[in-house]
Amino acid sequence: MNVLVINCGSSSLKYQVIDSVSEQVLAKGLCERIGIDGRLTYQKAGLEKEITDKAMPTHKEAISLVLSALTNDKTGALKNLSEIGAVGHRIVHGGERFTKSCVIDDEVIKGVEEVSDLAPLHNPANIIGINACRELMPNTPMVGVFDTAFHQTMPEKAYMYGLPYSYYENYKVRKYGFHGTSHSYVSKRVAEIEGKPYEQVKTIVCHLGNGASICAVKNGKSVDTSMGLSPLEGLIMGTRSGDIDPSVIEFIAKKENLDISEVLNILNKKSGVEGISGVSSDFRDLIAAEGKGNRRAALALSMFSYSVAKYIGSYAAAMNGVDVIAFTAGIGENTPSVREEVCGYLGFMGVDIDEKVNVHVHGEEKLISAENSKVKIYVIPTNEELAIARETVALVG
Ligand code: AMP
Repeated sequence: MNVLVINCGSSSLKYQVIDSVSEQVLAKGLCERIGIDGRLTYQKAGLEKEITDKAMPTHKEAISLVLSALTNDKTGALKNLSEIGAVGHRIVHGGERFTKSCVIDDEVIKGVEEVSDLAPLHNPANIIGINACRELMPNTPMVGVFDTAFHQTMPEKAYMYGLPYSYYENYKVRKYGFHGTSHSYVSKRVAEIEGKPYEQVKTIVCHLGNGASICAVKNGKSVDTSMGLSPLEGLIMGTRSGDIDPSVIEFIAKKENLDISEVLNILNKKSGVEGISGVSSDFRDLIAAEGKGNRRAALALSMFSYSVAKYIGSYAAAMNGVDVIAFTAGIGENTPSVREEVCGYLGFMGVDIDEKVNVHVHGEEKLISAENSKVKIYVIPTNEELAIARETVALVG
């Protein structure tokens, strides 16, 4: 079966068509500047990318253009739309209600709307994408795959905040965690490679991308993760601050004459390694700047690795040990210096990276720990689209 995987943002939409039997990507691309003007990128496997500027007033036009490109006579990957057996939608926040992926119907859409106040930037865009697909492909089954669902196995002691209990009871204020599809995919892959049952491995997955989070996966279940009610908590990230003393918010608001949402905008978009370095959120730029002697770029890089190492240490304690540390996503897969620096903090728990192997590993699945390391260290490229396609087939196939 061919699965169309849709990841819908407020003004953009990424898509892939995956053959669920061969697990090959037949075509992929994205729509950008939806509601502004519109640009479609389309690439059939084995062919060059095609980029066309086309009006996309809403997500419906964007998806309609994607479907036309997919079935185009010359470069289309499909003969007609009936070759799409199902659509898998990434949905950012499932609250406490969605503990696993599910087939989308009116009830599910209502449920996603009900938790939208927890992800006001993301869930409404996801719903717009789902509704547009349902209008254009009314007879094709659709599945929702939630970023938060994998973390719903966290114990209460891990997900509760030290706040008045009524905020949890009344508003469901708690840690949810994100990147669940990636943490689940990578931790399963680790067990496969190790040839062990998923239920018998303790893995710490470091999803280090522009958004970054760490997850403790004990015996196949997420038991703790670094992101919280929103993706702002946890590690210092590309432009997000990660953990700070909440008092900073009022302090900055008064000093800079800002309101809370303006300060939060700064914490989300102007902080992190970009805010510290004043250079960029992109690690390639930071490493280049550090090489030229830029002190703040060096500080930002060292803050990042330090925060990753601290979370790994605390999650090893939370699980009473760790068998495998896995690095994934843009930085985790492509930046040997970060992996080496992180692991450098962890010698006390028997972590020993093979520096000679590590330095050559970019975006490939590879064991990078030394033979005598007590904890195995892997680089595992994440593949959220494939994970969504698998979940979709599991539910409708
Ligand atoms: P993601 O959000 O997973 O797409 O990751 C984006 C981050 O990965 C950016 O900070 C990039 O700098 C980083 N990244 C991607 N490719 C490379 C690379 N080849 N070398 C170093 N960093 C990379």
